[in-house]
Amino acid sequence: MYDIAIIGLGPAGATLARLLDKKYKVIAIDRKGEKNGKCCGGLLSPDAQRILAQFDICLPKEILVDPQIFSVRTIDFDNHLEKFYQRFYLNMDRIKFDNFLISLIPDNIEICRDSICKKIEKENDIFRITFKSKGAERTEETRIVIGADGANSTVRNTFYKSRMDKYISIQEWYKDGINSPFYSCIFDRNITDSYCWTISKDNYFIIGGAFPVKNSNMRFEILKEKVKNMGVSVGELVKREGCFINLNRGTVSVCTGKNGAYLIGEAAGMISPSSLEGISYSMESAKILAEIINHDCNNVKHKYFIKTSGIRLRLLFKIIKKPFMYNKILRKLIMKSGIKTINNR
Ligand SMILES: Cc1cc2nc3c(=O)[nH]c(=O)nc-3n(C[C@H](O)[C@H](O)[C@H](O)COP(=O)(O)OP(=O)(O)OC[C@H]3O[C@@H](n4cnc5c(N)ncnc54)[C@H](O)[C@@H]3O)c2cc1C
Repeated sequence: MYDIAIIGLGPAGATLARLLDKKYKVIAIDRKGEKNGKCCGGLLSPDAQRILAQFDICLPKEILVDPQIFSVRTIDFDNHLEKFYQRFYLNMDRIKFDNFLISLIPDNIEICRDSICKKIEKENDIFRITFKSKGAERTEETRIVIGADGANSTVRNTFYKSRMDKYISIQEWYKDGINSPFYSCIFDRNITDSYCWTISKDNYFIIGGAFPVKNSNMRFEILKEKVKNMGVSVGELVKREGCFINLNRGTVSVCTGKNGAYLIGEAAGMISPSSLEGISYSMESAKILAEIINHDCNNVKHKYFIKTSGIRLRLLFKIIKKPFMYNKILRKLIMKSGIKTINNR
């Protein structure tokens, strides 16, 4: 019998596993192996850098990739506008970042990678978790289960009604054929009511976007055509990846959990609805939950809900900010005003 089972070892699960007190018997299960990564832009925001600083964690330089880009080229196809804005992201290798966070987990935690959680049942306050590990099915019991399993969370889907808007993210990695690397944000209502991007990363050029589920592939093809029409010539296609992304429409989308089944990170709905940045919320929610559980694993629900009110408030602010990014007229006004733009050329 385990005290705690963590499902998912992304930034949320790995942070929680690192911070939990040694008095607990913990198992952490993740579908990914060392060589697989999450479909992600891999940009570490200033908020995420701040959380790492709070943890006193320094990033080894191997996790960073070439080049570090200091501006975002904002391309508005709806209004035929283009502006540059300063950004303070770190451009990194997401697979290496996740592996690094996992490497910091202490030895007392039992880590099962390449292991997929299939089913979670609850009986008399005990959770029975069935997962497939190294080809064999295994069942374990635990008093607390924590869903750190991202946008399509099994824990959330099992115990809580989902009130998220599920979008599909698609990214393609090309051998870099362009001379001058850049990071861009692309807005085009004909493609998506969210946004698309391009990122230069080491010797690759990534084209990606978040699309409504319906016709997502067709939308991605249109995006690629438009990027190529901008004069960007890319090299050979290296890989294509995709995943769900939760776009919360309000703080009601955030679900922290109750009765022994708690959620952290994107599984809890903690992701910016405007920029789609989520690593900072994942590490912060994990830190909050670890502190509560380490103190006392009773009455977690109430304390965790209250202590995450700062996160919900910040998400609310992002929701209020959203029309200024996504409404065609408001975005035109902001971009034309020149506020915070950089005279790049
Ligand atoms: C295309 C894209 C680009 C993004 N770019 C950025 C960015 O540049 N910067 C940023 O800050 N945020 C970005 N985000 C958001 C960010 O990726 C997420 O918010 C963040 O990864 C959430 O961390 P997490 O630990 O909560 O979940 P995840 O990172 O999704 O980790 C969940 C883990 O759970 C595991 N898992 C899932 N289901 C199971 C199961 N059934 N059994 C076992 N394990 C399971 C997965 O293998 C995974 O390791 C992006 C998202 C997308 C989709």
